[in-house]
Amino acid sequence: ALKITHECINCDVCEPVCPNAAISMGAEIYEIDPARCTECVGHHDEPQCQIVCPVQCIPHDPAHVESNETLADKAERLKQKA
Ligand code: SF4
Ligand code: SF4
Repeated sequence: ALKITHECINCDVCEPVCPNAAISMGAEIYEIDPARCTECVGHHDEPQCQIVCPVQCIPHDPAHVESNETLADKAERLKQKA
């Protein structure tokens, strides 16, 4: 999963581009739900939130390092639930 750092300026542009509805407004800044973030695997070649973020504050989350296979499985599970 990716994570949003405190550099976030709450510009709102990342939330609508997430194919997994993983991004939402938190207490102070936007947050990514690691259970829903597939790093865009299963939907796009590149993480869409990283592409649109104007301040580049969405790095990989070192607490949630996942293989491509794990991310693809997660994408499949989320699609089945939807
Ligand atoms: Fe959503 Fe993709 Fe960003 Fe993860 S990397 S939060 S799935 S837009
Ligand atoms: Fe924050 Fe970047 Fe999302 Fe804007 S695009 S709300 S700065 S994480």
